Amino acid sequence: MLSALSTPLDAVVLLEVDYDQIIKRISGRRSCALCGRVFNIHTAPPGMPPRCDRCDDKPPLLQRRDDEESTVRQRLAVYEQQTGRSPPTMPTKACCEPSTRTAAWTM
Ligand SMILES: [Zn+2]
Repeated sequence: MLSALSTPLDAVVLLEVDYDQIIKRISGRRSCALCGRVFNIHTAPPGMPPRCDRCDDKPPLLQRRDDEESTVRQRLAVYEQQTGRSPPTMPTKACCEPSTRTAAWTM
């Protein structure tokens, strides 16, 4: 498909992120039903119980069902099953190989 578009594939970026971090970030997402703003209870605590600080009446934030921890774990299991990949082991440095145009960072 890319060659048909005269756009050859020069590089692939593979992000390997620790599953615990994925689960924490996704399951920490909350959103406001009124304004749509998205929060994360781990990185920008909106208070307890979590409420939107943008809306005047400070409505409680909602967690989407597909952001629930059990759902995220199931999605990761399906990813492993469909790709044959295992959870990454976690180096903590950035790397650039084999050219300077190709970079992959691990978190
Ligand atoms: Zn809001």
